[in-house]
Amino acid sequence: MMPQIHIIGAGVGGLSTAALLANSGYSVKILEKSSKLGGRTASMVYRNHILDNGFHIMPFYKKSAIFNILKKIGIDNKLGLAKVNDIAFHSDTGFHKYPKGMLDLLQLSLIPLKSRIRLLKLLLPMAFTSIEKTEEWDSKSLTDITKRLDDDTNAFFEAICMLAFADTAEHISLGEFARTIIRANPFKGGTSEFAYPKDGGYDSITKILADYVLERKSSIQTNCSVKKITIENSKVTGIIMPDNSFVPSDCVIVSYPAYVALNQLFDDGAIDKKFVEKINRLDKKTSVVEVHFALKSQIDTRQVVFPVGDNYTTKGIFFISNITPSVSPPGEHLIIAGTPIPSHIVDDSNKIKEIVDKMKNEISSIYPNFTPSLIWERPMAWKLVESVVKEPGMVWKSKMPHQIPGIKGLFFVGDSTISYGIGTDSAAHSSTLCHPNILSHLESLKA
Ligand SMILES: Cc1cc2nc3c(=O)[nH]c(=O)nc-3n(C[C@H](O)[C@H](O)[C@H](O)COP(=O)(O)OP(=O)(O)OC[C@H]3O[C@@H](n4cnc5c(N)ncnc54)[C@H](O)[C@@H]3O)c2cc1C
Repeated sequence: MMPQIHIIGAGVGGLSTAALLANSGYSVKILEKSSKLGGRTASMVYRNHILDNGFHIMPFYKKSAIFNILKKIGIDNKLGLAKVNDIAFHSDTGFHKYPKGMLDLLQLSLIPLKSRIRLLKLLLPMAFTSIEKTEEWDSKSLTDITKRLDDDTNAFFEAICMLAFADTAEHISLGEFARTIIRANPFKGGTSEFAYPKDGGYDSITKILADYVLERKSSIQTNCSVKKITIENSKVTGIIMPDNSFVPSDCVIVSYPAYVALNQLFDDGAIDKKFVEKINRLDKKTSVVEVHFALKSQIDTRQVVFPVGDNYTTKGIFFISNITPSVSPPGEHLIIAGTPIPSHIVDDSNKIKEIVDKMKNEISSIYPNFTPSLIWERPMAWKLVESVVKEPGMVWKSKMPHQIPGIKGLFFVGDSTISYGIGTDSAAHSSTLCHPNILSHLESLKA
């Protein structure tokens, strides 16, 4: 008899895991709380534009964990990708090209030549070190090495952090930063390129994965918020559905942030209290304000511009319809601008309005045509930008393990669990790492 496998959550982590299992010949049942697939990547259509849930971009292009999963299961041809490679900084001295590789650093007009050489001396050994070595730096902050640099070079680091981690350098683990530099090194088989789905909407990735699993006798049930996972004699026995019915299961895979799931899905005492307390400490979030703007004219042909310098609240301006015109109706252009904020501001609408007005003034100062072109704006504030990156000491192997020691048939995937990389890349990486453990459990059921 085929084992009963349930996956809770249809985000990148859940659907990547489902696709890998379907590829290994198993059918799974995916239960999703929301009416949509994609989790935090879910997109929406607003006034004929495709809006992502904030700015979403795929780091490492075809070398990303998610693209590797599509390749492994033979459906990489289903995802058309637009490269995101026309990137610039904007400082009070004008526009400066973003370096695509180490050697471009020498031409980085944003900072003085002396600083470029220092930067190269810092980054080059990092790019050629090993992933194992970077683990020694997981508890250190990136600012441990950047604090001695001049202001211009620090501004460069802040822009890199915004592009790669959507956060500021002080929140970035040096180990995670170093792994990013290694994975961006073409001499180590990596790439520094970014990508975005050509058809628009970052959730097209999860739609492709969902189609794949549905074609392989798996099912997806939306609007289904799982209430509990039942455990007896240290073994998963089933799940309690929204209507309180019990569904037996041989294998349950939880794919939403583990520190939330551990506190929601289990009866008191089912999981060791000390373990839960340890995982609860991973509950650190980045908060951001991001505003979509629709414009009636194209104010720049670039894809991404980073305003640099302390004067700017706006940390990134992303010209999404320059990346792929599919996101906008003919004659209109979509951009999104964003900035990180302290979490307590997220619920303060006056403060958010202040920030949005500041951002609009700044964009107008760079692009005088911005205000006359503006058709509409749609600001959003997020409290939970979980694990686009984690703080020093909360990355890679310090995250939630894929299994709880001593409990059979229960697995955890997603960006809060052991994996490296950024956001969706880390969610997919977790699925790749967890897959052999799930397979070995399923094999053991046959014995
Ligand atoms: C504003 C913003 C910008 C971002 N930008 C980027 C970016 O540029 N690049 C990048 O790579 N990443 C980015 N990320 C991060 C990225 O979206 C996440 O890392 C990734 O989507 C996490 O996937 P996941 O599968 O681990 O979790 P999720 O996407 O959170 O999926 C979990 C799913 O579980 C469901 N669920 C929860 N509880 C239950 C329950 N009880 N029963 C059933 N279902 C349940 C949820 O509804 C959800 O669909 C961004 C995130 C945000 C919020």
